[in-house]
Amino acid sequence: MITEADLRHLRRCVELATEAVDAGDEAFGSLLVDEAGAVLHEDRNRIHTTGDGTRHPEFTLARWSAENMAPEARARATVYTSGEHCPMCAAAHGWVGLGRIVYASSSQQLGEWRAEMGIDGSPVRRIAIEEILTSAAIDGPVPELAAEVRLLHRRRHGRA
Ligand SMILES: [Zn+2]
Repeated sequence: MITEADLRHLRRCVELATEAVDAGDEAFGSLLVDEAGAVLHEDRNRIHTTGDGTRHPEFTLARWSAENMAPEARARATVYTSGEHCPMCAAAHGWVGLGRIVYASSSQQLGEWRAEMGIDGSPVRRIAIEEILTSAAIDGPVPELAAEVRLLHRRRHGRA
């Protein structure tokens, strides 16, 4: 179930995705939030500005959590993200033992939007998080925010 607090955090993810597009990166942003609802860390996609295709925000947050949080705190934390984790990030989330995931738009939607824009496939398959993680509470997509994320992807690829 998506709460008002969830929506607030997801809106920040969309803002971070917007910052990414403005900087020349892909339209993804994510937040790491602790059990009490405090934002611990945030990041955005940085694959083009760094030239490193692994610079996805969810991966950065997983690594940050391992370096800065106790295992019990990680298990009770939530990762919010503008777009559902890719397999790399879902696996990183699982390996460091993070808790719930809430996403604004799904990998399936991203695939449809890229097809709409005539952009060829990704080098990594789009697999739902549930197929990667054995146990995680997962919520998403959120239709009204997904519509905003779609427009960001379109703007990134010159279709807005
Ligand atoms: Zn990823």
